[in-house]
Amino acid sequence: MSKAIVSPLYNSDVFKQACRQFDLAADAISLPESLRDRTKWPRRCLTVSIPLRRDDGTVALLEGYRVQHNLSTGPAKGGIRFHPNVSVGEVAALAMWMSWKCSLVGLPYGGAKGGVIVDPRSLSLGEVERVARRYMQELIGFVGPQVDVPAPDLGTNEQIMGWMMDTYSNHAGHLTPACITGKPLSLGGSLGRREATGAGVAFLVKAYLEDMKIPIQQATVAIQGFGNVGSETALALAAYGAKIIAISDYTGGIYNPKGIDLKKALEFQPYVKTLKGFPGGSAITNEELLTLDCTVLIPAALERVITKENASQLRCRLLAEAANGPTTNQADRIIDHRGDIELIPDVLCNSGGVVVSYFEWLQNLQNFYWTRDEVMEKLFRILTQAKANVEAQKRKYGFSRRLAALTLGIARVAEAKNSRGLFP
Ligand code: NAD
Repeated sequence: MSKAIVSPLYNSDVFKQACRQFDLAADAISLPESLRDRTKWPRRCLTVSIPLRRDDGTVALLEGYRVQHNLSTGPAKGGIRFHPNVSVGEVAALAMWMSWKCSLVGLPYGGAKGGVIVDPRSLSLGEVERVARRYMQELIGFVGPQVDVPAPDLGTNEQIMGWMMDTYSNHAGHLTPACITGKPLSLGGSLGRREATGAGVAFLVKAYLEDMKIPIQQATVAIQGFGNVGSETALALAAYGAKIIAISDYTGGIYNPKGIDLKKALEFQPYVKTLKGFPGGSAITNEELLTLDCTVLIPAALERVITKENASQLRCRLLAEAANGPTTNQADRIIDHRGDIELIPDVLCNSGGVVVSYFEWLQNLQNFYWTRDEVMEKLFRILTQAKANVEAQKRKYGFSRRLAALTLGIARVAEAKNSRGLFP
């Protein structure tokens, strides 16, 4: 019997990164061979064509994916990304990380991810709506409140989730808000969901700085990516008293050692969301931002930005992975070896988003809505427990924090698969 499936389908650096992480974790917990491949490999994958009628009357054909990595622990859960660099391998890696993340924080979900190869900035609002609706239409037989519940990710937002929910509901014949999370409040969104990922990142950064005996008021922070996650993280950390000295978007970054005026930066971003030309600091590149001297470095944009080339030049004390997969495996080894940087791994660091997505889904299913304080209190309780579990695992086995988090997430998925048995 062959030891592993070797398929060219998901072939990409980011999928290899996720697989390598899995292999290390599976070795560390001596996961039985009989469980390895079926825990590691995505359960199923859908590729869709999306014909888009452009505003000028021409038709463009786009490609999209939905990968469901694991359905053994509940409905699959994971965001939808609109970005020109989306690939099925990237989506599969992100789906795999969703499985570990949901299990790590104890949510009754499997893992999934979706994506469309498109630059939403190059489309009009109407064109974005048509892409969103057609993508959801193609997914209808494949998703749903008890099957797979998507959410926003890079390049998508509340409005897009609203259009997708409307498309699904039209098909169902009745309002079905639980088919998707991250919706506008008027469509059954949860209070606190918009800021949940960033609020969770900031909460964990504060908790780890406390462990490191660094007063948050003395912390300086550099954040790559100023979209939903980056900006909400910045606002929450600034509210705790930290100084945000650098922010960036796809066009480049802004650096101000005296602290960036976040309100002005947010007001400066027009619909296309660019910080280019923001007068509140000096211009730097995204690469320069990563190696700034700061207390906390927060990648909050794309994966694989901390590499073997820049890992030895990082000058932070704490690396908080708000983005998914921002650190390559080689960079991970360098950071481990350096020993002077604490790392909050992505599956823990950005899990606040999926936790509050879970709350939104619960509220939709029960048609009973919570206050923002209830949402935040429950979120922080779950994150506190997840952090404690990771720290206990790290101490018990002498693992790195990433390995501790991954082994906890992977073990729970494998255990569920084992208990369910193999069908047929
Ligand atoms: P977003 O689209 O709201 O914002 C993305 C930001 O990254 C924008 O400022 C964009 O300009 C910037 N960016 C894009 N390409 C870049 C590049 N090449 N270099 C530097 N910056 C670049 O997306 P988001 O929802 O904030 O997601 C950001 C990251 O957080 C992603 O890795 C996503 O998977 C992860 N994440 C998001 C959520 C969520 O709830 N939205 C939850 C968990 C994890």
